[in-house]
Amino acid sequence: MEKITMQTPIVEMDGDEMTRVLWKMIKEELLLPFIDLKTEYYDLGLPNRDATDDKVTRDAAEATKKYGVAVKCATITPNAARVKEYGLKEMWKSPNGTIRAILDGTVFRAPIIVKGIEPYVKTWKKPITIARHAYGDVYRAAEMKIPGPGTCELVYTDENGVETRELIHEFKGPGVLQGMHNLNRSIESFAHCCFTYALDTKQDLWFAAKDTISKKYDHTFKDIFQEIYERDYKARFETAGITYFYTLIDDAVARVIKSEGGYIWACKNYDGDVMSDMVATAFGSLAMMTSVLVSPDGNYEYEAAHGTVQRHYYKYLEGESTSTNSVATIFAWSGALRKRGEMDGNKALMAFADKLEKATIATIESGIMTKDLALMTTIPNPHVAESGEFIKEIRGRLEA
Ligand code: NAD
Repeated sequence: MEKITMQTPIVEMDGDEMTRVLWKMIKEELLLPFIDLKTEYYDLGLPNRDATDDKVTRDAAEATKKYGVAVKCATITPNAARVKEYGLKEMWKSPNGTIRAILDGTVFRAPIIVKGIEPYVKTWKKPITIARHAYGDVYRAAEMKIPGPGTCELVYTDENGVETRELIHEFKGPGVLQGMHNLNRSIESFAHCCFTYALDTKQDLWFAAKDTISKKYDHTFKDIFQEIYERDYKARFETAGITYFYTLIDDAVARVIKSEGGYIWACKNYDGDVMSDMVATAFGSLAMMTSVLVSPDGNYEYEAAHGTVQRHYYKYLEGESTSTNSVATIFAWSGALRKRGEMDGNKALMAFADKLEKATIATIESGIMTKDLALMTTIPNPHVAESGEFIKEIRGRLEA
C-alpha cells in the first residue's frame, strides 16, 4: 500500500504520563503505517521542559506560528507535588497558558458524538462547540472586603491626571467589593477567532452576554462583536449560509437546552468556564471532548480536552492493564491532519482524517470501547478493551 505524502510538517508536541503512552501507540498503529508522516517534534514532557527551562514550550508555539498547524498531547501543569515528584528546578507555568499567550488564541471545545453514548439532553443531536474568552473579567479582578460604613467609587485617572469617578455604593455596614476589567483589543481578537472558526466549520455562531443589566461593560462586548461582524464577516457568512446571532445569556441557556446542537456558542470568560463543563458532562464524557486553539491570524493547535490520566499511568508503570480512552487524542491528530491537508490542498490527507474518525466511531458503535465508556453506554454487553487493544481494533477497521 502506498503511503500518503505530506508537503508541510505538522508541529508535534509530545506530553506526559498515560497520554504520552497513548501518543506513541497512536502514531505507530494509526498514522505511520498509512502516512509518510512529516512532523517537527517538540518534547513538552515535563522532564524536557525542566531541562530546557521551558524554552521548548515557547519554541513549539513559535513553530506553530510558522507552520500554522500543531497537535499537542496532554501535559502536566506542575504543582508543589509535581515539583517534588520530578525534582523540578521551578514550578513551570501551564504549557497551554504559555502557548495561548504566544498565539493569542481562543479555545474551541466540542464533543465527539457516538451512537450508544447518549447525551443527557434528549434533543441534542449535533455537537455544541463552546468558545471561551480567556482574558480578564473576574479572573483578573481586584477585590476588597469592606469592614464597615464608607463610600466606594470607581476612579479612572488618565495620562494627564484628570479623574473620572463613578459611585459604586455608600456602605452602611460591612460588605464586599470587586473591580473587573477587559481590553477592547482582547475582545476584538476573541471576536475574530470566533467568526473565523464559524466560517471554517460552517456553523452558526451564537454570542451571549448580559447587556441589559451591564450597559457599559457587557454592552461593549456586544458592540464590538456586532461592528466586526458587519465590517469583516457579514458578506462571507451570507455566502456560506451561516448566521451570527446575539442574545442575552439567560435566553441563550434556554435555547441551548431546547436546541439540536450544531453551532458555536461564544462565551465570556466566566460563562465559558462554567458552560464548557456543563456541556462536556451533558454530552457524556470529558474523554470524548476535543479542543482546538485558534489564533486570530489563523494558526491551529489541536488537543484532547482532558489531562494526562495520572491514575492510569501509575497502574501502567506497575505493569497492570489499563483501559484509557484515546478517542480525543486520535481526534486531535485527525483534526490537525485535516487542517494541514486543507491548507496544502492535500485531498488524500483530508480523506485519511475522515477515515480515521469513522474507524474510531465504528469501533465504539460495534460495542468495543474503553472502560469509561462501557460504564455509560446504552449498547448491550459492551466489550471493555485494554488501551492498546482498542487502538489495534481501530487499525483493523482502517485497513479493511
Ligand atoms: P484528567 O483529565 O487527567 O483526569 C480527570 C478524571 O477523568 C480522572 O478520573 C481520569 O481517570 C478521567 N479521565 C480523563 N481522561 C480520561 C481518558 N482519556 N480515559 C479514561 N479516563 C479519563 O485530569 P486531572 O486528573 O485533573 O489531571 C492530571 C494531570 O493532567 C495534571 O497534572 C494536570 O496538570 C494535567 N492536565 C493537563 C491538561 C492539558 O494538557 N490540556 C488538561 C487538564 C489537566
